[in-house]
Amino acid sequence: MAPMLRLYNTLAGAKEAFASIEPGNVRLYACGPTVYDAAHIGNARPIIVFDLLFRLLRHLYGPAHVTYARNVTDVDDKINARAAERGISIRELTDGTLAQFHRDVRDLGVLMPDDVNVPGQPPRFVEPRATDHIAEMAAMIEGLVAAGHAYVADGHVLFDVPSMPEYGRLSKRPLDEMEAGARVEVAPYKRSPLDFVLWKPSKIGEPSWPSPCGIAEPGRPGWHIECSAMSAKHLGKTFDIHAGGIDLIFPHHENEVAQSRCCFGTPVMANVWMHNGFLQVEGEKMSKSLGNFVTIRQVLADWPGEVVRLAMLRTHYRQPIDWTLRALDEAGRTLERWYALAGDVPADQAVPDAVLEPLLDDLNTPAALAELHRLDAPGALRAGANLLGFLGQTRSEREGARVAASGIDVAAVEALIAERRAARSAKDWAASDRARDALTAMGVAVKDNKDGTTTWTVVDKPAP
Ligand code: AMP
Ligand code: ZN
Repeated sequence: MAPMLRLYNTLAGAKEAFASIEPGNVRLYACGPTVYDAAHIGNARPIIVFDLLFRLLRHLYGPAHVTYARNVTDVDDKINARAAERGISIRELTDGTLAQFHRDVRDLGVLMPDDVNVPGQPPRFVEPRATDHIAEMAAMIEGLVAAGHAYVADGHVLFDVPSMPEYGRLSKRPLDEMEAGARVEVAPYKRSPLDFVLWKPSKIGEPSWPSPCGIAEPGRPGWHIECSAMSAKHLGKTFDIHAGGIDLIFPHHENEVAQSRCCFGTPVMANVWMHNGFLQVEGEKMSKSLGNFVTIRQVLADWPGEVVRLAMLRTHYRQPIDWTLRALDEAGRTLERWYALAGDVPADQAVPDAVLEPLLDDLNTPAALAELHRLDAPGALRAGANLLGFLGQTRSEREGARVAASGIDVAAVEALIAERRAARSAKDWAASDRARDALTAMGVAVKDNKDGTTTWTVVDKPAP
């Protein structure tokens, strides 16, 4: 029996005790990237936060009892426009952007499908691509029309929002208020200004597929139907947790709920809806459109991914984060301390309760990290840190990796250290200083130990 996990559920507007619908089968869906351009560090927040949730669920329920689906949106207006701008095919753009996204998030310590899927067993982490699920979307759209919740108009298929009285429940926007407040919609084919697109005609040169519902012209799906179709296929018509950024509550998630419930005749799409707060710069949401963004890759040029991950998790996921160099700096120092303390000691068998308990309380990472900070037993520190996706390497492994990544010539370092030692024993302080200066110039710091040995480390680049 797993210890009790409590999660804040946007649908309920409160923290609730979590229980999976099927015992021993926890199903989690998170809206993933639209692969038209490099992800910014704000986009990394939901990826890191829900990676932590996935890790925690695996810890609580066992790795074979949790399934995570995080989709890839690879059909979208922005994708078409960007591919045309760059003069490359859509597939080239989406494949290239997705490969970059994978490198980015792997460096942030995010589990990847390859890390968790075991050959011969059902996959525990799937990354469905929208363009591989067009048939499932078309089938759902036909089902919605047949059920009287959608209609065909002018080559489009639209969801009939007023046909669903509970529309607005997730975002707490009552349907009648939205109807009263709606501006007169320009699109003449819509019955209600609130109706949204399930399928639309493709323009010349845009990707297209045979349309559903007897529409002769080929077309393509709207964004919202993608997640309804992919979650149903990989997790089921009703599943446990649906996650994403707070900006997705309306309209994206509200529309997903409407589509899935009306198509499948279910009382809920997902039991629990979790939303992360924004990563901000000087009080404003980081976004492509505001232009106040830095890409994950740019941040990783200056900071190790583990530092970035820690800077991200220091704030509770529902709170806004102000992205500052100071937070990165502090995270960097904390990790140095942890690596020094944990040394080469393996993780204890059990994650300390003090670290686990705050995580069970709606992923209270600031409290869990404060508890990690208090630990002075290396094995316990490593076990707790591992659960949060930190200290995956021992100190020696990390040092070895840093030396390898720095390209430093180890033989040259050893030779200079020997030279310095000889100079010191001959009391030739000028020669000793020259050797040390040469090492410093290579990015190497030496330390003379009490036992007479000398050790050396690669110096991190100074913070920008
Ligand atoms: P987008 O590229 O805007 O579709 O966003 C992809 C994902 O990143 C969604 O889950 C968004 O909610 C999330 N997201 C975008 N910008 C931010 C931000 N500044 N802070 C946190 N999450 C964000
Ligand atoms: Zn979605």
